[in-house]
Amino acid sequence: MSDQAFSEAQKQYLSGLMMGADVARTVRGLPVLAGGGETAGTSIRVGGDTPGHHQDPAQDALQAQNEQQAAGGKLCKEEQAKRDKNPLDMWEEISQRSSRGEFPKGTDVFLTKFHGLFYVAPAQDSFMCRLRIPGGQVWSHQLSGLADLSDRSAGGYIDITTRANLQLREIPANSATDILYGVRDLGLTSLGSGGDNIRNVTASPLSGIDPVELIETLPLAKKMHHYILNHREMYGLPRKFNIAFDGGGTISSLDDTNDIGFHAIEVTDSPEMPAGVYFSLTLGGITGHRDFARDTGIIVTAAEAMEVAGAIVRVFIKSGNRTDRKLARLKYVLDDWGFDKFIDAVELALGRKLLRSDPNTWNRCETEDRWAHVGFHQQKQSDRSYVGVVFPVGRMTSDQARGLARITSRYGTGELRLTVWQNLIIPNIRSEDEPAVTAELHSLGLETQASSFRAGLVACTGSAGCKFAASNTKQDAMRIARHLEQHFELEHPINIHVTGCHHSCAQHYIGDIGLIGTKVEVDEDMVDGYDIYIGGGWGERRAIARLAAEKVTSQEASSVVGSIVAEYLQGKADGEDFATYASRLPDDEVSNLAKLDFAPRP
Ligand code: SF4
Repeated sequence: MSDQAFSEAQKQYLSGLMMGADVARTVRGLPVLAGGGETAGTSIRVGGDTPGHHQDPAQDALQAQNEQQAAGGKLCKEEQAKRDKNPLDMWEEISQRSSRGEFPKGTDVFLTKFHGLFYVAPAQDSFMCRLRIPGGQVWSHQLSGLADLSDRSAGGYIDITTRANLQLREIPANSATDILYGVRDLGLTSLGSGGDNIRNVTASPLSGIDPVELIETLPLAKKMHHYILNHREMYGLPRKFNIAFDGGGTISSLDDTNDIGFHAIEVTDSPEMPAGVYFSLTLGGITGHRDFARDTGIIVTAAEAMEVAGAIVRVFIKSGNRTDRKLARLKYVLDDWGFDKFIDAVELALGRKLLRSDPNTWNRCETEDRWAHVGFHQQKQSDRSYVGVVFPVGRMTSDQARGLARITSRYGTGELRLTVWQNLIIPNIRSEDEPAVTAELHSLGLETQASSFRAGLVACTGSAGCKFAASNTKQDAMRIARHLEQHFELEHPINIHVTGCHHSCAQHYIGDIGLIGTKVEVDEDMVDGYDIYIGGGWGERRAIARLAAEKVTSQEASSVVGSIVAEYLQGKADGEDFATYASRLPDDEVSNLAKLDFAPRP
């Protein structure tokens, strides 16, 4: 690419980078790059000597820190901690601490998360270990191995997360290395699953078996996973980062809630490109900050997705805020720069232009089925079906995990898929084996059918295991589901998302009904409670939920959610689902919904 090919925005960006590079070189006592009267953009390339390749990329985070300090900023304490000690070089320290039976202290608690170990005191005086399960695909030997590991060195259970991932909890200090070795022995890793890293890469959970998907996304999630693991600079982000691939099938990967979403589209009639399946590129999703990923108008092929995602992350590494954690997500770079400048910088990092396309020439093939992750369903392969096993709020005992591993080995192909709905799918079952699979699941205390409330019930860890939580989300979610099942029967499922704090791990803003933990003052005591939102959605029906009730105690939550459901059943049109009903309510009616059984506190 010649210098003339750079736009004005690209030249400005390059000039800023050179200034940052010069600060860094001055600190290291090296001559500056931008000096000597050369025009910005002629002495170095953003992408290294060869377009699309990167020179000394591990220095990008340091350079970004230097640049922001030189501009008068003060690094936040997490950035300073990463600067003082590279978290990737802590293996020895973690091992020694484990052999002494000690937990990390101070900023080492944060740095240890880079290895997937979260010290979760005061909620529990133990570690939680979060894995990376790209695309949610896990094999029977891995699940039974994790169950044994959990029995030996953790709490004897495994949690499925809202990123189709697995977590072990209640790990004593002296078992930390046993867990890290054990996870690696199973061909898995926890590296970069916490801290300022790219989290578990998600894909459509029915990739390769979905009768209506446009493209398989599991291979892409796996490639992205290995790309991240094998590029050291991918651990130098200003904050966490999410990437999702959605193949356009019946179970969503919730791609529009991710920093980068690749959503399959079909192009049939475009002057710019041959007909075929591509991915639309969306950026900046962060529903905890009430924002979905926005369309960039760019489309990419499956073959280039990795390289494009890598370039986006590199621009974010250089441009993300390192002085204020609250503003350190990609959304805030996009808000500040606008999409054009950001895409210019990505193209500069790639060394080539990306393909713009008129969305009117795309077909997004919205085929989502909100029951598809529960029960038996026909696969693309005519003689096979899959079964979605119900795990309300995502917890399985070690015995259940071993039992599931046995079932998939005997009746399937040894494979299991995790979903963002905190449940699990066993694929490749012959139709004649369905009764036996159902019976074996029942013998493990597991169901293949769920009520309209349990099918879409998700809850984050909550106060039973997370220090940020204001409430016991999993326990309260189950109590709410039981209450609703006793009183109502619905034609359409209602998604209930229960999240413990503003980190929004259970994405309360996209639930039909979303609850976020808060403390509530009752008779001068502070008790667990929630603010309750309604009318959230994703995909074609994306919407940020609106506030319906504030400061409801945990004890009152079931009754208040019940009053909302009762009002919906009374006010809905024939066949109308909750999302459609909620979307047509004006704001003042939304805040009236919850008042049937409940008077808001003064
Ligand atoms: Fe913890 Fe908050 Fe995430 Fe819940 S939403 S798991 S309380 S950080």
